[in-house]
Amino acid sequence: MEYQKITKKPLEQHAVKPNLKDYPEAIKEWSWDQVSWELDWFDKDHLNIAHVAIDAHLKTNRRNKKALIWESKKGEGEEYTFLELSRLSNKFANALVNEMGVQKGDRVFFFLERVPEIYIAILGTLKAGGVIGPLFSAFGPDAVKDRVGDSEAKVLITSPSLKKKIVEVIPELPALKHIILVNRGEGKANLDDPYYDELMANASESFDIVKTHKEDHAIMHYTSGTTGKPKGAVHVHEAVVGHYATAKYVLDLHEGDVYWCTADPGWVTGTSYGMFGPWSNGATQVVYEGGFSAKHWYSFLERKKVTVWYTAPTAIRMLMKAGNELPRQHSFDPLRHLCSVGEPLNPEAVVWGKEIFGNAFHDNWWQTETGSIMIANYPIQDIKPGSMGRPFPGIEAGIVDDDFNELSHGNEGNLALKPGWPSMFRTYWKKDDLYQSRFRKGWYITGDRAKRDEEGYYWFVGRTDDVINTAGHLVGPFEVESVLIEHPAVAEAGVIGKPDPIAMEVVKAFVSLKDDYAPSEELRHDIQKFVMKRLSSAAAPREIEFISTLPKTRSGKIMRRLLKAKELGLPLGDTSTMEED
Ligand code: ATP
Ligand code: MG
Repeated sequence: MEYQKITKKPLEQHAVKPNLKDYPEAIKEWSWDQVSWELDWFDKDHLNIAHVAIDAHLKTNRRNKKALIWESKKGEGEEYTFLELSRLSNKFANALVNEMGVQKGDRVFFFLERVPEIYIAILGTLKAGGVIGPLFSAFGPDAVKDRVGDSEAKVLITSPSLKKKIVEVIPELPALKHIILVNRGEGKANLDDPYYDELMANASESFDIVKTHKEDHAIMHYTSGTTGKPKGAVHVHEAVVGHYATAKYVLDLHEGDVYWCTADPGWVTGTSYGMFGPWSNGATQVVYEGGFSAKHWYSFLERKKVTVWYTAPTAIRMLMKAGNELPRQHSFDPLRHLCSVGEPLNPEAVVWGKEIFGNAFHDNWWQTETGSIMIANYPIQDIKPGSMGRPFPGIEAGIVDDDFNELSHGNEGNLALKPGWPSMFRTYWKKDDLYQSRFRKGWYITGDRAKRDEEGYYWFVGRTDDVINTAGHLVGPFEVESVLIEHPAVAEAGVIGKPDPIAMEVVKAFVSLKDDYAPSEELRHDIQKFVMKRLSSAAAPREIEFISTLPKTRSGKIMRRLLKAKELGLPLGDTSTMEED
């Protein structure tokens, strides 16, 4: 199917005027210095993310504005104003400094559910000059050991039940000096570690925020592990300039917005856009503690009157899989802007958003390493479904060949960026050689393949490791997967190259079906025929295998390397970030 461009209304007709009013003009005029002056720096070289995100608002009429509206899995609610978050994070900073001896640069890791304490403790750690490292609460002991061990974290914030899960690996973490237990109605387990509540009760509400330099380390995120062993990308305090600018112009946050980011804090999206970006813009955030549930998500969107929503392709595909009856029982009138990140967003999903919510999903592209959104669709710009959009102002992107020379539009190659934006990672923790190797001929090489069209829109092809070479053609898995999910029976698809003596590789597709369909030979042929008609015969899958679910990372990315390893009977490699069924 050919997807039509989704044309946007002219500026004057938008009920809420987009912050980015004129894209070409913004590109021409952009200055990172100028945007950074919109934030509250201590002096020209010093700023602290937690100050910029929270305390800076206390001088304004946002002081008593709601910053965090939280709902638990059981449906209980809690609300915190900017002032309350400021005071509570001050208390936590005092506890870290006075009780645990935390000093600037010490790593403090978080292995906790999506509860208010994780937000408070992350802000408090940054105020104390510590380096935060959030982990998915669903991680098993080895995944925690790898990351806490590699980072040599001094403090771990967790809960009694999560601590029990990892207790066997704690003796293998010699640098870990303190564990703080957040106890939400679990009862006091018989553990020696201090409890969060007690530390907070004894701590003062005032704290002198550490005047961190813009280049001081602030955030460590291990990558999702989609292509291999996760790497610890390190970000500095200046990163908040990037979080702020992109949340303002891509998420288009305004004073009256109710913003929902569905990402877990264990994933970079959960901090850049679940904390620092929106709060530095003074936005009110709603947070749901639980994981994905189509029924609950629709009800949450409606009840909280969400206006801006940032989610991921895997979640959108799951909503689509649940059918269109459910959303039609709700009203989403306030919802005015929808964004997606994490994986290629199939054009079908972009258009589906328009049908169900009256608004298309705005895809955008970035990585743990880039720290903030690099390529995006904007409220004011037309959308070409299937394209991740155009570079953010101040970001120079390009497509380069395998010798790192720039290619003209229309050519497929390596997606590269000109280094120097504020939220760029500054190293891979203890792997600086690997970090250095990502820079070639003045470009940062992202590891993704893409092409740019004549209007400057970027189209994702695949990760360099996933691109399939079949009979002399390079086939990106995304293109094939997108056509597969247009078939009425297909919910999700993962496509790999399978070694072949003649063609070098052939395309193999793993397909999971929508709830109302069952695998059969007939269906297999029908899907094959369907894809054949739409793609070249080289790109059409030679083999289709039905599976109930595709292996995914905790951040919802299809792990093609696992599909491939299983297919070839090879070792599975690092599976620490894999989601359980
Ligand atoms: P690892 O580096 O450990 O293999 P990862 O690359 O999945 O893991 P992240 O940094 O979370 O870890 O993901 C960034 C990657 O996700 C991008 O490089 C790209 O491959 C993919 N991605 C993110 N957003 C998009 C998008 N809008 N379209 C296509 N791909 C995307
Ligand atoms: Mg990566």
